[in-house]
Amino acid sequence: MVTMTELHRYGRTKFIMPGTAACPGCPLQVGMRQLAMALDGKMVMVIPAGCSSVIPGTAPNTAYTWPTLHVPFASSPAVASGLVRALRQRGVDGPVVVWAGDGGTADIGFATLSGAAYRNDDVLYIMADNEAYMNTGIQASGTTPWMAWTTTSPSGKTEERKEVDLIMLMHKIPYVATASIAFPMDFIDKVRRAVSIRGFKFIHLHTPCPPGWKMDDSYTIRAARLAVETGAWILWEYNQGRLTISPPSIPYKDKSRRRPLEEYLKIQGRFAHLKPEDVKAMEERIDKQWDLILKLAEIFK
Ligand code: SF4
Repeated sequence: MVTMTELHRYGRTKFIMPGTAACPGCPLQVGMRQLAMALDGKMVMVIPAGCSSVIPGTAPNTAYTWPTLHVPFASSPAVASGLVRALRQRGVDGPVVVWAGDGGTADIGFATLSGAAYRNDDVLYIMADNEAYMNTGIQASGTTPWMAWTTTSPSGKTEERKEVDLIMLMHKIPYVATASIAFPMDFIDKVRRAVSIRGFKFIHLHTPCPPGWKMDDSYTIRAARLAVETGAWILWEYNQGRLTISPPSIPYKDKSRRRPLEEYLKIQGRFAHLKPEDVKAMEERIDKQWDLILKLAEIFK
């Protein structure tokens, strides 16, 4: 397990150079930095279109300090598959990581994602989920939550969100987990466990986005933490046959220990239109999600 001393040591390491194009309070920089801490910056990264391809700046300059391929939206898992084979043929054993948003994963890139998982290619795929297409103007994606405002769902999204991590679990790959930028030690441990396994690994990282969620840019980590503490975001890990609830989420198996959902919703302008019955319906969805994950933990124990 990563220690606080190690985290403090990495606190002084500039994995991402200053002067990026990220908005203030950007969750992606936080998450990507945590990923770099987990791998000591030693990775090859593939990034499809999205905020993370804009953040490092325009070529030939880049704020990222590791080799990075910027690729078309739908192609990142396919490119990563080819890249990992080429590297292994040359005797390079380091991790190949796809870092993609929810649009590039759940929607546009899903076919190639499913193909790479089906082939069990030796790739770590991280889906940084800010729950909409933020880079192109906050349009709803497959993972935008029910009733959330976006520019394409101005009265609240009417569709349910896709459970991408569970869909990936059903690809029978060796490793699937959820994570949160508010719990870096949990995320770092998961990244390290994932890269120690051969085959396709998938981590669904929750990354609250201030402009897209219509909240103050100082609220990024607060929102990520409240998502876990209200039970709205469940941290779990499937590791080669066994599914467990991760330590930060264990207290919230007990519904009475969860913080009121309103605390999470009220800091986000995208939910400002919700009526009390919508909040209640959302709470019922959270309870059902917990039931499902706890049942899966029973099945995969
Ligand atoms: S829109 Fe959100 S995810 Fe994109 S750069 Fe800004 S804060 Fe980061």
